[in-house]
Amino acid sequence: MSYMRGLKCRECGRLYPKEVVFVCEYCFGSVEVDYDYDAIRRTFTKASLATRPPSLWRYRELLPIEGEPTVGLTSGFTPFFRAHRLAEALGVKELYIKDDSVSHPTLSFKDRVVSVALTRAKELGFDTVACASTGNLANSVSAHAAKAGLQRFIFIPADLEMGKIIASLIYKPTLVAVEGTYDDVNRLCAEIGSKYPWAFVNINIRPYYAEGSKTYGYEIAEQMGWRAPQHIVIPAAGGSLITKINKAFKELKQLGFIQDAGTKLYCAQATGCAPIVNTIQAQSDIVKPVKPNTIAKSLAIGNPADGYYATKAVLGSGGWAESASDEEIIEAMKLLAETEGVFTETAGGVTLAAAKKLIESGRIPREESLVICITGNGLKTQEPLLAQLKIKTRIKPTLASFESTLGEQLAGLATRAR
Ligand SMILES: *Cc1c(COP(=O)(O)O)cnc(C)c1O
Repeated sequence: MSYMRGLKCRECGRLYPKEVVFVCEYCFGSVEVDYDYDAIRRTFTKASLATRPPSLWRYRELLPIEGEPTVGLTSGFTPFFRAHRLAEALGVKELYIKDDSVSHPTLSFKDRVVSVALTRAKELGFDTVACASTGNLANSVSAHAAKAGLQRFIFIPADLEMGKIIASLIYKPTLVAVEGTYDDVNRLCAEIGSKYPWAFVNINIRPYYAEGSKTYGYEIAEQMGWRAPQHIVIPAAGGSLITKINKAFKELKQLGFIQDAGTKLYCAQATGCAPIVNTIQAQSDIVKPVKPNTIAKSLAIGNPADGYYATKAVLGSGGWAESASDEEIIEAMKLLAETEGVFTETAGGVTLAAAKKLIESGRIPREESLVICITGNGLKTQEPLLAQLKIKTRIKPTLASFESTLGEQLAGLATRAR
């Protein structure tokens, strides 16, 4: 059963069949999936959801597939929790973390978009999938395509972190490292995609792929007890996640699942690659491309495909944007680990550092509910921490060596074993 009516141009509203269409041939706007919400209302109810397995596919009616899901059956429904110790450190009252750094097969929120994109690619008859990636998408497409038995071509900038490269290669894709930035890789892939009949998940089947990000928003609302937060800080690379969390809350309101909480959206980027933050802070609608230079490589897109829509969503919600320097990113990664036991990658450091600045500047009021979106795992981006996190205590395997080395730290501690 399909709840998808077709595709619709985001600019002029022209309708297209649910095939491989990604730009409007009349106005060159991008297209998005159009659903039959009356049909959705009949089966998508709080009662029916209660009996469904905890994966992103529990929101099946609101996802762009026609048959049953076939890829990423265990992706999604990641942890969501109240962060008391971090709240205290930041001086806020009601803070939550949505943690996509764990539970997913490849440990980032990209498993959401890829599960949807590959299920749809199979429905559309593709036997080869591909992507242009800043790292996490490469991991996710490689893994899910391997399991689905699809051919896989993965294009990345050659200077990615080792963790991201190994976590792609292990799934045996054809991995192509391109000497250039992500934006060079993406431009090349658009060219390759116009010649070879492959499903480039974030290019020619992007309208389907992008819908997978909505599940991040649905889960937050469901895990809050069918409520939306007053404030939510979201990292941006291409800007798709922000626009889709916004769409998710709008759909849930329309379907009567949540009240309008007037949720304000905030965009987080690294100072070394902040085209969307710059646009929002200038209250403009023209996104000026930049040349990335940041340790947050997963967010290093200088010419973001959805920058315009992300800006519109953020400013339309009454939210704002903030960027974080490399030092601030590392400090925030450490703070999150030390207070909440979450080891996030550099992108998570960007999000937390931006949230901290938004709180300190008074943009986010300390008394209101706030969600911070953690989207990737720190084990994949260890390089920036190597110089900072060193073993400080090294001993011989004797009690005497232990006590003499730790000396001061042990002084005054009780010595009777329990
Ligand atoms: C891709 C990515 C994002 C941002 O996604 P967009 O939808 O392109 O804005 C955020 N965090 C991580 C870890 C990512 O890999």
